[in-house]
Amino acid sequence: MKKLVDLHVHSTFSDGVCTPQELVSMAKSAGLTAIAIADHDTVAGVDQAITAGIAVGVEVLPAIEFSVEFKGYRDVHLLGYCLDHRDPILLDTLDAFREKREKRGGAIVERLNEKLRFEGRERISQEAVSALAGGSLGRPHIAQILIRQGLVKDMQEAFVRYLIPCDVPKRYFPIAEAIDLIRRLHGAAVLAHPMHITKEHCELVSIIDSLVPLGLDGIESWHNGATANDSAFLSAVAEKRGLICTGGSDFHGIEEGVAMGIGRGELQVGYESVALLKGLHEGRLIPGAPSSPPPARRGRAGDRRECP
Ligand code: AMP
Ligand code: ZN
Ligand code: FE
Ligand code: FE
Repeated sequence: MKKLVDLHVHSTFSDGVCTPQELVSMAKSAGLTAIAIADHDTVAGVDQAITAGIAVGVEVLPAIEFSVEFKGYRDVHLLGYCLDHRDPILLDTLDAFREKREKRGGAIVERLNEKLRFEGRERISQEAVSALAGGSLGRPHIAQILIRQGLVKDMQEAFVRYLIPCDVPKRYFPIAEAIDLIRRLHGAAVLAHPMHITKEHCELVSIIDSLVPLGLDGIESWHNGATANDSAFLSAVAEKRGLICTGGSDFHGIEEGVAMGIGRGELQVGYESVALLKGLHEGRLIPGAPSSPPPARRGRAGDRRECP
């Protein structure tokens, strides 16, 4: 039987609703061999998941999902896999980041309360949002409080009615810095859910070709929002450039119809992705070893047969 994995799940340490231990139990029940906890801008849930994983026989890969900017694109997501998640420089960098997120969350709640006051509706409490967030505060936390207070019926309404109009920009990592940080920590840098950046295949090829020289190691070819055709396209682009393909459900526990391991039902990610990520990590632990796959595997950069 094929060993299946889910390399993109969120815990309560960012905007997921399941604890790392619960995620590991779900993975076990779903028959998955490995999962990666890829919380937004934090690795705080990784060790708990690893410990839980050892107890039940589910491999847990350390991971993180950074919000980065690249050229004119904001909020591009970059996954870091198999990085040294206990590194003090990483933890300091993330602390500074978290502080900025907290401040931004506070500013959003203030704007939102102003709007609610104007509408003659009950305000929401900053404390309730922070308590729910625990780790890395994001707009989905504020959405959950809006739902809990009966101010909106679901996530979609929370965003459309309040969180988009009251948004305050986040600070994004420049993508080159994030890739560099991941690689210095012996990890692999993978472009998350590319179809969320654009659905235009030619535009994606051009983005990916700009990221390869910066050290991009892989593409999340299998994700929600990618059709079978998109995934085949992304895998072909990856193969030509010697990039690793990964996949995951982006499970938060709040999206309707998304399950761990299978996403919206079609997802199937094999253990090969894990083996390749671990191989890259191990290669990077050896001082002086080449930090990228050999050029022959990388294909011809700029090969754009699909996109004239
Ligand atoms: P933040 O990082 O705080 O800006 O929150 C971004 C997260 O909010 C994304 O990762 C999504 O999970 C969620 N999100 C963004 N836009 C929407 C939307 N229109 N409807 C539902 N969830 C959304
Ligand atoms: Zn998320
Ligand atoms: Fe993401
Ligand atoms: Fe995610």
